[in-house]
Order: sequence, then C-alpha cells, then structure tokens
Amino acid sequence: MLIGIDLGGMSAKAAVLGKDNKLIGKTRVQTSRERSPEETSFALAQLARRAAEAAGVPFEEVEAIGIGSPGVIDSEKGVVVQWSNFAWKNVPLASYVEKYSGKKTFVLNDANSAALGEAKFGAGKNFDDCALVTIGTGVGLGVIIGGKLFEGFHGAGTEFGHMVIRQDGELCTCGRRGCFECYASATALIRSTREEMQRNRDSLLWKQALSLEGADGRTAFLAAKEGDEGAKRVLSDYFAVLGEGIVNLVNILRPQAVLIGGGISAEGENLLRPLREYIYPRLYVLDYAPLVLCCASLGNDAGLYGAIENARNKMQ
Ligand SMILES: [Zn+2]
Repeated sequence: MLIGIDLGGMSAKAAVLGKDNKLIGKTRVQTSRERSPEETSFALAQLARRAAEAAGVPFEEVEAIGIGSPGVIDSEKGVVVQWSNFAWKNVPLASYVEKYSGKKTFVLNDANSAALGEAKFGAGKNFDDCALVTIGTGVGLGVIIGGKLFEGFHGAGTEFGHMVIRQDGELCTCGRRGCFECYASATALIRSTREEMQRNRDSLLWKQALSLEGADGRTAFLAAKEGDEGAKRVLSDYFAVLGEGIVNLVNILRPQAVLIGGGISAEGENLLRPLREYIYPRLYVLDYAPLVLCCASLGNDAGLYGAIENARNKMQ
C-alpha cells in the first residue's frame, strides 16, 4: 500500500491508493509557516497514519509515502531546496518524514506531481507525451515525455510561468519583468476584470462581482455569458495571451495533449473552445502532428495521485 500527501500553504491532504485506483481514507491537516519544517514533517507523518487508519489499512502494510510539495524540489534527495511562501531553504523533507513515520518517503514538486497524476490516472492516461498547465495564482507546468516525468537538471526545469513574453512588462514575483504568469495566471485574469470594472461602471461585471474585491476568476465568464462586451474583451485578450504561451510550449515540446488544470478548468468548453480557436491555426504542422487540448480530470486529487505514482516508481 502507498500513501500520497499533497502539501500546501494552508493545509496538507493525505490518502491511500486503494483498489480500482480509488483514493481512500482522505484526511487533512492545517499547515502554517509559523511551524518549523521539522514540526510540519511530524504533522505529515501523523497525517499519513490517520489516512491509513481511515482507510482501514494497518500502518505496517504501508510501503512508502509520496509527497507533492510546493517550491523547488530535489526529487533525488527528497529536499525542498526553496519554498518562498514558507521561507524553507534546503529542508530534508523526505528524511524528516521518514524519521517520524518509519516509512520510505519521496518528494516531488506539486506541479510535477499533478502532471504525473493526470498522466497516469486522469485526462492524460491515453498519451505517452503530455503536458499539464495549471492556472492559479501563477502558471505551473508538468511535462511527461515517453510516459516519464521530465523535471530538468536538479528538478529545476519546466518553469513555464517565468518565460518572459513582454520585455520590461509587469513585475513578477520572481524578480523579473514580463513573465508569462503575470498575464496568463488566474491572478492576471482577475486583475484585468477589475481594470475593466473601473473603466466602465455600467458593466455587467459589477452585477456578478458586486464589488472590486468580489471579482474572481469566474466573473468575466459569467458576465460574458450575459453578453457584456467588456467581459468578452477581457476574456479574448486573456485567451490570446494564454493561447500564445501554449502555442510556444507545443511548438517546442510537441506533446500529444495539453491538459488545463486549476480552478479555471471548471469553465470546460467555455475555456477550451476559444483557446483551440486561437491555438490551432498558429501551431506548426498541425495536420501532421495533431494536438488534443482538454481539461484535467482529477481536480484537487491530481497531486495525491502523482505523489503516489512517484513513490511507486521510486520503489521499483
Ligand atoms: Zn517570473
């Protein structure tokens, strides 16, 4: 039996991979940057025990624990090299969790973990080469080539969100200007939605959001459905910038499929249709090497599945 843990800035979730590839015994614990890395590791080991208990699996039968963690991860050593949100630097997370759980533990970056989960258990399972683009506060990317995760040297690769698309553009959290995620993240969509609201007090965006603070990633989609021209413009600008980034990605890697994950993927065809319309005519040799563009299917479970799959691969 294998246990997966999805570590985040607000909480950590754990589950056991049961029969028919179902996640069972799901449990959760709050996380906080006030806790030391070792205290957090202890909490994760306890969480794994609780997941096993909830799944009705004796903890002795658990072979390994896989963790998906934010930050730059050295997946060979199981070290969180850098996680700025929690101010972690060179935290030997795998060793700490092993110490408190007595189980072999493996760590992977969370975007990579979600990609591995989708590739093996979700929307990517019929493709050997696929990429998961996760749209949230930033833009994450995980790449599967020939059924295997591609992480780059020391796991530092596939930082799609920090591809510069506008020199001297918006300031990014990474310190550079004009990064892709400054324009293509959900944060960026919300920013443009608010800008449009400020330009036009009569916009239907106000009806959806009620206030500037009330605007979220769905606001523009909802107002566009009601025919609001400003909302349609916000979305078409957003699809163009997101689409252009995906065109670049596909022209470089040429996966068989690109999966879109994150909260925005709940929009389904309202997101995919205009994105395909932007992307397909701009792709290199589309007829020869067609591309599938679809939404991720595992939602918040993708990271747990990927963490488990990584542990299984490493145990073999
Ligand atoms: Zn950046």
